[in-house]
Amino acid sequence: DNPIVAIVGRPNVGKSTLFNKIVGKRISIVDNLPGVTRDRIYADAEWLNRGFTLIDTGGIEVDVKNEIHQQVKYQAEVAINTADVIIFLVDAKEGLTPSDQEVAELLRRSAKPIILAANKVDNFNDIPEGIYDFFALGFGEPVMISSALGLNIGDLLDRVVERF
Ligand code: GDP
Ligand code: MG
Repeated sequence: DNPIVAIVGRPNVGKSTLFNKIVGKRISIVDNLPGVTRDRIYADAEWLNRGFTLIDTGGIEVDVKNEIHQQVKYQAEVAINTADVIIFLVDAKEGLTPSDQEVAELLRRSAKPIILAANKVDNFNDIPEGIYDFFALGFGEPVMISSALGLNIGDLLDRVVERF
């Protein structure tokens, strides 16, 4: 069976954008609204001839009455239970938030390989200061990417497939 790679992170960091960029099609719905029904959150993808199944955990449906932070925690737990490799996505423009810390706390208890990626670095000549705060999450140096512009996605995927 294909290894499973899950994209985890609080809402709006760019999980669906990254998912679509890796899969090469617009399957996952990109939006800013919590609780919207998404029908496609799984897709097969390939990098360096290594096939894998990618999951956009932001599309996992949770009771819409739940608080956002409960949804994110639930989604992180699903990822921990099902994934072979987890991409923990944060937003370099926003910087470190308490929600990122909550997700990190859950992920730290997992034995799964976790790759921290800082999204929305759209200009590598102008790296946001806040990027250094992400080291405190305990997952090492974040891979800086721009999902929207498709920058450094290959670097990220190199790190993913080497953990299979
Ligand atoms: P999700 O909630 O984590 O799935 O995030 P989305 O993929 O829906 O993206 C949330 C917002 O961030 C959307 O407005 C995206 O267009 C925007 N976004 C995603 N990736 C990038 C990026 O690399 N750079 C910038 N500037 N915006 C991005
Ligand atoms: Mg999404």
